[in-house]
Amino acid sequence: MGKVVVVGSFNVDHVWTTAALPRAGETLSGEYATGPGGKGFNQAVAARRAGADTAFVCALGDDMGGQLARALAAADGIDLRGQRSERSTGTAGVYVDGEGRNSIVIGAGANADLSPAFIASRRDLIAAADVLLAQLESPAEAVLAALRAARASGVITLLNPAPANAVVTAELLSATDILTPNETEFSALLARHVGERIEGDAVAALDQARLHALCRELSPAGTVVVTLGASGCFVSHAEDVRRGDDNAYYRIAAEPVRAIDTTGAGDAFNGALAAAIASAPDAPFAEPIRRAGRYAALSTERQGAAASMPQAADVQARFGP
Ligand code: AMP
Repeated sequence: MGKVVVVGSFNVDHVWTTAALPRAGETLSGEYATGPGGKGFNQAVAARRAGADTAFVCALGDDMGGQLARALAAADGIDLRGQRSERSTGTAGVYVDGEGRNSIVIGAGANADLSPAFIASRRDLIAAADVLLAQLESPAEAVLAALRAARASGVITLLNPAPANAVVTAELLSATDILTPNETEFSALLARHVGERIEGDAVAALDQARLHALCRELSPAGTVVVTLGASGCFVSHAEDVRRGDDNAYYRIAAEPVRAIDTTGAGDAFNGALAAAIASAPDAPFAEPIRRAGRYAALSTERQGAAASMPQAADVQARFGP
């Protein structure tokens, strides 16, 4: 079994479904649901259910949210290593209207306290992993410390540069082996690092050679996987690091599914990709990419984020081994 360490956020999501989004001064009634969230936790659940031995490094408050994180991680067999914070556990308040539009407020809370010192204290855990996976709902200094600790031990580093408004520094990019932006995040990265203005919804229509050239500018020595929602994903490798693939760049179509909720599809893809690489680090890279695509596709047939992550057996039953 491959070993994955996920460094990232945990949030308690509070979701109200109302006929319309509330305006200033307005009081509405609606259906309420609560559950776990945070990109870090979602990806850890995906990595674990996709079959990896998974540890999750995060920061939690000394409150009910923190207890929930520990209980849910234990239920899934995830080895949670939580830095204790004086602040409340992270939260997200979500309003969803009758047409599926949403307004979201995130209270980073404890997530904002995850520190390089805590990461350093988990150096042995990171060194024993096959893959380290991080996102940017946690402080950039802590993420950078984790990527560097992994690199120093020859652990493959995977960075999902999300959310799109996160500041992705050149240091983060150069400490990353495999970068996995979605279209919006790719557009933001190009604007910041390459000086190219390409709207997110224009990315999927770009010519493959052009996409490859842009990926090479962004990550000259690494691999970039641009996820394209229902259009699948695009893979671009540095010339001398093809990760077992024949081609330096290619596109893989998404699996045909009846998507009902794509929330968390990106998290499903990243967690499953980390698990697949960890279980077969020497396999041609297209194989983990295919596995991640199947896993993410199946997650879109279920409601929710962490809750929608399928088990490896469900993915096999649907798409074969
Ligand atoms: P995204 O973050 O939206 O780019 O989605 C991440 C990955 O999830 C994509 O690369 C696909 O593999 C998968 N995915 C997302 N939406 C769909 C969909 N509607 N049908 C099938 N696969 C999907």
